[in-house]
Amino acid sequence: MRSAPERRELLRAVYEEARECVRCPLHQTRTTVVFGAGNADADLMFIGEAPGANEDRMGLPFVGQAGKLLDKLLAELSMDRKEVFICNILKCRPPDNRDPHPNEIESCQDYLWRQVDLIEPTVICTLGNFSTKLLRADSTGISRLHGHEEVRIIGPRAVRLYPLYHPAAALYTPSTLEALRADFHRIPDLLALGPPEQPRSFEPIPEIDDTPDESDEAEVDVGEPEPAAQLGLF
Ligand code: URA
Repeated sequence: MRSAPERRELLRAVYEEARECVRCPLHQTRTTVVFGAGNADADLMFIGEAPGANEDRMGLPFVGQAGKLLDKLLAELSMDRKEVFICNILKCRPPDNRDPHPNEIESCQDYLWRQVDLIEPTVICTLGNFSTKLLRADSTGISRLHGHEEVRIIGPRAVRLYPLYHPAAALYTPSTLEALRADFHRIPDLLALGPPEQPRSFEPIPEIDDTPDESDEAEVDVGEPEPAAQLGLF
């Protein structure tokens, strides 16, 4: 069992790694790595597609018009960003906001799996087709799946996966906004169910070595790491 502060520090380490990432060509055109932001111990996580121009500039996810709609819908549930964790499949902006390429998703997804593993959310809302297809490992589209929750194993954890329309798709289509809002308003009920039953871990329980380690005394306290300006981690 890892404590919430331990998981938060590990998440910060993943961020430090991601911000230097050169795994795919998007590193050549990005301004900022948009790792994700919010509560590192959130019960509710949102996963979008990829940063757009505003996100690339500011280093934070969903800060444009789609993000404003997301904030509004959260406010309707009396929630805000500090309670949830918001990120994307891709951490770097595809030029001209084109769709993510398979090689980019392949290179980047490991960051997402580690985010899910460390945040330990109960409910994951995938926003739109790309994240829904990736997390379900299936090509069924969002118009068939939105609003239908299911328990899925993501990495080592079982989560309640809840596909939603992407807020950008709802900005100019009133019927999509209506569906997104109706689905969104069911989130509190899903959270209230609590975490689904977790898969049994087959990892052997490590033996505890409680002999004092001499190097402990020699450890130098380097203090708290500087919070990264753009991380927005709570
Ligand atoms: N669309 C996304 O999918 N992610 C963002 O961060 C912004 C817009």
